[in-house]
Amino acid sequence: MAQTAVSIGANVFQFFTRNPRGGAAKPIDKADVAAFLDYAAANGIGPILAHAPYTLNAAGAEPRVREFAEEVMADDLERLEHTPGAMYNFHPGSHVGQGAEEGINLISGMLSRILSKKPYKTTVLLETMSGKGSEVGRDFAEIRAIIDATESKLGNQAIKQSDNQTILGVCLDTCHVWDGGYDIADDLDGVLAEFDRAVGLGRLKAIHFNDSMNALGAHKDRHERIGKGRIGLDALARVVNHPKLRDLPFYLETPCDLQGYRDEIALIKKLRKG
Ligand SMILES: [Zn+2]
Repeated sequence: MAQTAVSIGANVFQFFTRNPRGGAAKPIDKADVAAFLDYAAANGIGPILAHAPYTLNAAGAEPRVREFAEEVMADDLERLEHTPGAMYNFHPGSHVGQGAEEGINLISGMLSRILSKKPYKTTVLLETMSGKGSEVGRDFAEIRAIIDATESKLGNQAIKQSDNQTILGVCLDTCHVWDGGYDIADDLDGVLAEFDRAVGLGRLKAIHFNDSMNALGAHKDRHERIGKGRIGLDALARVVNHPKLRDLPFYLETPCDLQGYRDEIALIKKLRKG
């Protein structure tokens, strides 16, 4: 993966820890991990972002669904101990009719049980969602509520930014927040000010950089290639250049093949000033 990333001009990459539809992960190959760590250091690869399977739903109604979510996340974080400094992104979940409040309670319950085990070397990120179906994390207030509930359940073991321990952060997906009704095209400063008020920009650790096939507030979640969607190239250029965002790692999740990603990375580097 690291060699492929370098071959297309990337200095970070996102990957699935296992089949995105669920299932067992491959056993860890220690020699391969060591080769990766050497290669990443030699080639200036920044923080890698592991993505949880889409089927992971900590807010499911069925106990079996919730147990699967907890087992997978705990196992993923254990595996990521081999690559210190990585980040782990997950979709908070869907409450499937139980209500957002119960969804937040279930998600924070899982997070607090896992994060109380030990200080992991990985930063865990809640992804901002578009609000399709019964998704939890549909606005910044729900993201904050998950963080607050998790830290309150952790109590004295509360995880702090400064502790150099497991950190709960946020990954902002440009397509999802647009589809969720945040106008990053016409009011990026306003959206970031709202994020700062609701969550705190200190929690923002990564950007999923995508255009959107749908209109502002559509609650749809269909990613489009950079500059080919409804957010548009000018607005996305302001995102990559924004002083509060420009130093974060950006991960593409656009519908591209490898050559398409190579072209998008070249385009983004051209958009980037200074
Ligand atoms: Zn995303």
